[in-house]
Amino acid sequence: MSIRNKLRDIRHRSRIIRLSTYRKMGVGHLHKQIDISLLMLVLICLISLPFAIRLHYAEKVISTEDPFVIDEIEGSEDNIIPSTAIEQVHEDLGDAPVEAPQYVSLDELEKRAQLGEIDVTMRTMEKGDTLLGLLAERKVPAAQRVEVVEALELLLDLKSLRPGLTFLFFHDKDDKLLGLSLTPRANETIAVVRELDDSWTPISHTGRVETKQELVQVEIERTFSGSAKKAGLPSGVINQIMGALDGEIDFASDFKSGDTVDVIIESKVTQGGLEIGSKQVLYIGVKAGKKEIHRYAYNNAFYDARGRTAAKMLLKRPVKAKARLSSAFGKRRHPILGYEIFHKGVDLAVPKNTPVVAAADGVIEQIGRKGSYGKYIRIRHAAGFETAYAHLNGYRQDLKVKSKVKRGEVIGYVGTTGRSTGPHLHFEVIKNGNVVHPFRDNKIVSSQLSGFELEQFQSWGESVNKDFKLHQVGNVPAVPSAKPF
Ligand SMILES: [Zn+2]
Repeated sequence: MSIRNKLRDIRHRSRIIRLSTYRKMGVGHLHKQIDISLLMLVLICLISLPFAIRLHYAEKVISTEDPFVIDEIEGSEDNIIPSTAIEQVHEDLGDAPVEAPQYVSLDELEKRAQLGEIDVTMRTMEKGDTLLGLLAERKVPAAQRVEVVEALELLLDLKSLRPGLTFLFFHDKDDKLLGLSLTPRANETIAVVRELDDSWTPISHTGRVETKQELVQVEIERTFSGSAKKAGLPSGVINQIMGALDGEIDFASDFKSGDTVDVIIESKVTQGGLEIGSKQVLYIGVKAGKKEIHRYAYNNAFYDARGRTAAKMLLKRPVKAKARLSSAFGKRRHPILGYEIFHKGVDLAVPKNTPVVAAADGVIEQIGRKGSYGKYIRIRHAAGFETAYAHLNGYRQDLKVKSKVKRGEVIGYVGTTGRSTGPHLHFEVIKNGNVVHPFRDNKIVSSQLSGFELEQFQSWGESVNKDFKLHQVGNVPAVPSAKPF
C-alpha cells in the first residue's frame, strides 16, 4: 500500500469513527460544523503552544527569583467572585421542551416512499455499470455524485459492487436525490442520506432486511402464463418458471384445466416495508395429469430433489416453424442416387430461410461447407451428445468454431445447399459417436451434486419445502455421514 493510500485509509477510518460518534451523540447532522470546530481547536492549540512554552519557562524564572510575585497574583482581590452573583446565573431559565436532534434516517425515507410522498427507483447493477454512472442516470448533478460516492466509500469498498446488486434511489417530487440504499451482504444495509444541510451521511444498519417465503398455487384454467398472472405471480417469476421447465413441459399442450403449479418464492423486504430486488423462485411443483415435476432452485440452477440438474430434452424439430417430416430416420431409398441407404437423420421440410435453432446448450464444433451436406453446423453438447444441421442457406453471422450457443438460439437458416432436392433441414443427433433417432427422448442430465454439496442442498431443500423428502423418488445417492466431533 502506498503512503498516499495509507493516508487516505486513515482519513476514511477516522471519518467513520467521527461520524458514528456524532450520530450516537445525536448531533450527526452537525458533523461538518463539529469537524470544523475541532480543527480550529487543534489549530489554536498548535499556534499557542510556543507561547505556552515561553510562559512556562518565564514562570519558572520568576518563581526562582521572586516567589512572592505569584502569591500576590493568586490572592488578588479581582479574582474573587461575589457569592450573590452565582445565584443569579440560572434565574431566567424557562421549561423548554427537549428537541430531538434532526437528521434523516433510512427508515424515514422508506416510510415516506411507502406513503407516496417521495419516489423510489430500484436499479440492479449490470455488467459495466458504475455507481457514478447510475447517479448520472438518476440526473444527480456531477458535484453531488462525487460527494455521494465519497460518503459511500467510507463504509464500502466500491470495488465490491457487482452485477446483481440492487440500489434503491429515493427522490423528492422535483427529482432531487434524497438518498440511496443497498444491501451488499445478507445482514447489512448501507445507505447514504442527504441531511437537512445538503451534506451526505453514510449509514450502516445490520439486520434490516428480512427474507420472506410464500407459497403460491397456480390452478391452470387455459394457458399457464394467464393462470399464473391471475394467481398474482409477477412476470419475472413466470419467466423463471418457464425457463426452468423448458424442455420438460410443453406449455402449449401438456397442461389441462385443473392441473396445478405450486411455486415457493422468496422476497427480501426492508424494515421500512420496501421490497428489494426481484422475487426469486425456490421451488416449482407441477402436477400435469399424471406427470409430476419437482424442481429446486439452488445456486442459480434448478435441481430435482435428488440433486440432479433437470434433464433437458434435445429439441426434436429445431426450426422456428411447423416442420413436416419429409424423410424419416433409418433405411430408405435415396431420392437422387436411387439405391437404399441409411438415412442418418430426419429431413424437416420448411420454407427457405426459416431460422434453425440449437437443439440444446452447446459449443459449435464445425461450421462450414461439408460435401453433400452443403452448409453445415455441428454442435457438441453435454453427456456425449452432438447435433448436426445440414443444407443450410446461411449461418448466423457471429458464429464460429468454439462459439457457445443456448438451447433454442438461432444458429442459421434453412436452405437447399449440397445434395438436396428442395429446402429442408437435415438434422442428426449423435450420441457417443453413433447416430440416434432425433425423435426419441434424448435427455441431457448435465450435473449431479455430490458429497458435501449434496448434503448442503438436501438440508436446504428440507428447509424450503416440508415435502422435500417425498420428492426424492428413485435411487437417492448416499450422502457421507457427518464427521464425528
Ligand atoms: Zn436428410
